[in-house]
Amino acid sequence: MPYRVAIIGAGFGGLGMAIALQRAGLEDFVVLDRADDLGGTWRDNTYPGLTCDIPSQLYSFSFRPWRWSRRFPARDEILAYLHALVAEHGLGPRLRFGRGVTKAEFDEGHAIWQITLDDGSTLNAKAVVCAVGQLGRPVLPDLPGRDEFNGPAWHSARWNHQVDLTQQRVAVVGTGASAIQFVPEIAKVAGHVDVYQRTPPYVLPKADRPYREAEQALFDRVPAVRKADRLRIFLYGELLTTGFVLSPKMLAAPMAMWRRQLRTQIADPRLRERCVPDYVMGCKRVVFSDDWYPALTRPDVELVTDPIERIVPAGVITQDGITRPADVIIYATGFQATQFLAPMQVEGRGHRKLHEAWQDGAQAYLGITVTGFPNFFMLYGPNTNLGGNSIIYMLEGQIGYVLGALRALTEHRLAWLDVRPDVQQKFNAWVQSASRTSVWESGCHSWYTTGGRNTNNWPDHTFLYRRRVRRFDLSAYRVMPGPRTA
Ligand SMILES: Cc1cc2nc3c(=O)[nH]c(=O)nc-3n(C[C@H](O)[C@H](O)[C@H](O)COP(=O)(O)OP(=O)(O)OC[C@H]3O[C@@H](n4cnc5c(N)ncnc54)[C@H](O)[C@@H]3O)c2cc1C
Repeated sequence: MPYRVAIIGAGFGGLGMAIALQRAGLEDFVVLDRADDLGGTWRDNTYPGLTCDIPSQLYSFSFRPWRWSRRFPARDEILAYLHALVAEHGLGPRLRFGRGVTKAEFDEGHAIWQITLDDGSTLNAKAVVCAVGQLGRPVLPDLPGRDEFNGPAWHSARWNHQVDLTQQRVAVVGTGASAIQFVPEIAKVAGHVDVYQRTPPYVLPKADRPYREAEQALFDRVPAVRKADRLRIFLYGELLTTGFVLSPKMLAAPMAMWRRQLRTQIADPRLRERCVPDYVMGCKRVVFSDDWYPALTRPDVELVTDPIERIVPAGVITQDGITRPADVIIYATGFQATQFLAPMQVEGRGHRKLHEAWQDGAQAYLGITVTGFPNFFMLYGPNTNLGGNSIIYMLEGQIGYVLGALRALTEHRLAWLDVRPDVQQKFNAWVQSASRTSVWESGCHSWYTTGGRNTNNWPDHTFLYRRRVRRFDLSAYRVMPGPRTA
């Protein structure tokens, strides 16, 4: 018998979906994950200093508030939250680990998705919810000589904890959101750190601190206080979003905060100058840190801005001909974010292949459904990433929408529903026109775009996304009636 729903991925998205299904009484589902445990991003990334960069009062499910130890808790605490959710909801028996999905094919005759796993086995489901995230596959840079390096080298998302960095000479390639978090930590123990920067990030203050016991007690006793704190964090994110999507002129306040942080934390004008981005704030991911700039001022940390020429067995050569020796290289070079769902193959009606439908860049109606792929739903799909707010807020909206679609299948006795091509086209035309005035298409190179086109970010206020997905809109879908039952 086919499952009613197969969820692919056991991160925030997949687990949130599983909880929603269970609460709705739709018990016949399975959650498949290629890894040997749950947690997605928060399982895979273990680098020192990893915390969320949206305070966890908001970076958590609205239906399950938590007693966070601090505003930006460490990775272990976020992962423990996900484990606690699974335990509370008794989801354990539904989770299947070590089950990487390689292919999902729609059998139109039977209105069933056949799912192939990496061991060659298959299972069937009436609907698929694909929750594989956008930031799960690390990218290593294409640097000449990369494999010739003599010492250990790894990507920040696959941290090698076997190597003790004490007194080591470490080369860090990249200055994105992960490097910002781990460089200040490793600089405390390493002998020397060279940070190779291609483009500097905008670094806004983080203002992290532990919650006091009295605050915790207040949050526990008066839930409205915690809700108010969530709202405050949300509104700050929306303030940034306003500038990102409407006009960078509206970023005057965050720009002033960034300038002040740069001025007060770096005294050396030459170093300061090399930390000034040459693109509009938000075009690349804005990062939050109070200790990035101070780390760069340490005598045992060098910010290298000359481009890397090649990697050699003993270290790194830059284009100015200087060789800096290294014992270890850490690549903080991001993820293959624009290749959504890859390397999984998805085949819809008439054997239509998703990667062919997306050859000019991914797109989906509301980031959730793609025409020609009935009963196939995505969480955190195309154009649903955010530059300044919580992905969990987006995921909760998507989960509610998918639940509405699954209910519609039952209530209207449908075999399948498939988003109408004109609806998807109109939606995508709006996404592209809205993106044109956004900072993401202002000319920098970032992981938000494919060929200069915004494929990853939601180009509007976040609350307006939630408004759009508030109700499942059956009229946007072609439907196939199910078999009549006596
Ligand atoms: C270092 C880091 C910090 C971040 N911090 C924040 C933050 O502070 N705030 C914020 O809003 N967002 C943040 N993000 C973004 C973060 O990815 C999302 O917030 C969220 O965790 C996404 O959850 P997800 O379930 O959609 O995806 P993921 O957490 O990526 O989970 C996807 C799951 O799918 C599984 N999977 C993938 N492919 C397959 C397959 N073919 N078969 C079976 N299983 C598969 C993976 O193993 C994984 O468990 C951060 C990302 C990173 C990398």
